[in-house]
Amino acid sequence: MNRFFSETTKRLTPYVPGEQPKTGHFIKLNTNENPYPPTPGVEEILRTIAPDVLRLYPDPVALELRQSIAKNYDVDTDSVFVGNGSDEVLAFLFQAFFGENDIVAFPDITYSFYPVYAGLYNIPFITVPLTDLWTIDLSAYPEDIKGLIIANPNAPTGIAMSAEKIEMVLKARPDTLIVIDEAYADFGAESVIPLTKTYDHLLVVKTMSKSRSFAGMRVGYAIGNKELLEGLIRVKDSFNSYPLDVVAQKAANASFLDKAYFIETVNKVIETRERFIESLCSLNIHSLPSKSNFVFVSVPGVPGKDVMDHLRSEGVLVRYFHMPRLMNWVRITIGTDEDMIKLTELLHRLTVNHNIHREK
Ligand code: PMP
Repeated sequence: MNRFFSETTKRLTPYVPGEQPKTGHFIKLNTNENPYPPTPGVEEILRTIAPDVLRLYPDPVALELRQSIAKNYDVDTDSVFVGNGSDEVLAFLFQAFFGENDIVAFPDITYSFYPVYAGLYNIPFITVPLTDLWTIDLSAYPEDIKGLIIANPNAPTGIAMSAEKIEMVLKARPDTLIVIDEAYADFGAESVIPLTKTYDHLLVVKTMSKSRSFAGMRVGYAIGNKELLEGLIRVKDSFNSYPLDVVAQKAANASFLDKAYFIETVNKVIETRERFIESLCSLNIHSLPSKSNFVFVSVPGVPGKDVMDHLRSEGVLVRYFHMPRLMNWVRITIGTDEDMIKLTELLHRLTVNHNIHREK
């Protein structure tokens, strides 16, 4: 460790993102990116932006984009906060709402950036195990927590919780900030954005990275009560006045203006996912019921790391998490139909080879 590192920097365990290969040609199913491009309206914007606009700082409050997002969800513009990817929005909310004397809770198996933010800001946290069915038991969370962070659908399981269950917890815990990370909700989960009008302790975090094919541009947002969002604004304006650049604001706005394309591509991913799950089923490969753009998969008898390494050697990247309960699982992003057919063939061959070896 360098001698100039602060005590906090020394203590950090940073998040490790999935591989972004620089060479080779891979079918990339390891970081939940969308296989389809953003709406043609985005291409149009990117082609027509004059370099001269880069001379000036962008709108610090991204008003036009926030207006489009607000219209899309039928909420007030003041109920929308935007940031440089939802990772930044999540970081801001950890800093805005929790401190060293608070406790934040989330499942033991969920987005692994949550404990990283807690570490960065010295916020104590507890984790609660998922049930044997990989679901979240909200009644198992202690009373004295200041924040509860739930990814819905959860990652990497892909399993979604109903809005009704989330509303029950909102009613039962009026003094806990309930954060619902809907990074993957567009692929089939019920959004609780409408509930933000009723509950001032609900904050919904969303990203454009997955369902809007914007991972390379970094646009995330939060929707919640206006007074609550004031906390995020205070942190943002103490950190970086312009988290979203001019190009990102314009391109993101174009995405929200084309609802039809959004629905069409999301449905394509959902249909491919369902077909993929069916083919896994016919190969006797386990998968969890997913409402996201990935599926959590276990090949009987083959450790997850071996599945990942084998697929990589065949030109397909998937994600493996080295954690006690996840050793036999890999997370597979939904690509195009063609990608998934190729992958299914590889998985089929892997199971056949494994069974031959076992019988020997
Ligand atoms: N939440 C969850 C559950 C995620 O899986 C991700 C993507 N890794 C994010 C948030 C962050 O997404 P982004 O920063 O690309 O908006």
